[in-house]
Amino acid sequence: MSERIPALFIGHGNPMNALLVNPYTERWAALGTAFPKPKGILAVSAHWYIQDAAVTVSTAPRTIHDFGGFPRELYEVQYPAPGDPDLAAHVQKLLAPLSVRRDERWGLDHGTWSVLCHMYPHADVPVVQLSIDEKQPPLFHYDIGKRLAPLREQGVLILGSGNVVHNLHAYAWGRHAQEPYDWTISFETRVRELLLAEEYKPLINYENQLGNEADLAVPTPDHYLPLLYIAGTRTRSESLAFPVEGVDGGSVSMLAVRVG
Ligand code: ZN
Repeated sequence: MSERIPALFIGHGNPMNALLVNPYTERWAALGTAFPKPKGILAVSAHWYIQDAAVTVSTAPRTIHDFGGFPRELYEVQYPAPGDPDLAAHVQKLLAPLSVRRDERWGLDHGTWSVLCHMYPHADVPVVQLSIDEKQPPLFHYDIGKRLAPLREQGVLILGSGNVVHNLHAYAWGRHAQEPYDWTISFETRVRELLLAEEYKPLINYENQLGNEADLAVPTPDHYLPLLYIAGTRTRSESLAFPVEGVDGGSVSMLAVRVG
């Protein structure tokens, strides 16, 4: 049995981070050497938010450029990590009797590769993606994280990729730096406090229990839900840290959460 691997939630933010060297990407790179190299990665990305539960089974997942209006260089990025059908089958087993569809078509979306190209630049760790079933309530996603937790004992890195606060309507796209909005800071602070206190119920019931700020911080669930998977993998009293901090464009929290 191998050493238990941490689980990570990463705030991926702007897809351009794939090409940039900045304080966020430098810390992502540092995370790639902060613990033993995993045997495989199971990624839950905000950008595979679909109508059912599915897992990628391709042995050579394609690099998906799932965005518009960015420079050509970003469309040329390839992240040729292999897939891992055995890991995908193992995920199906862990989640049974929930039926998880084997997906041949999806590959690695930018929620996954824009982070992993910094963490593991040689693309030498196999990657499988698990979809976020948009029909399911937040508690379902937390429970899935709990059921996936044993993978950590088997050398698999569970990676959630989204953003704790993600409001693109309020996001400052221009060149001028935008100070974080008050609601960005207060929502993120509350999330940190609850994680540290192991109080997951308000995090799960964020729509009702985290105040009006939740409406602004989480206008749609896709970027928030990957955090619940990572919270679900945490054993009681296990260490938790925030290896990346910051806010981009006033309304996108770049907070990362490391469990273990
Ligand atoms: Zn995103």
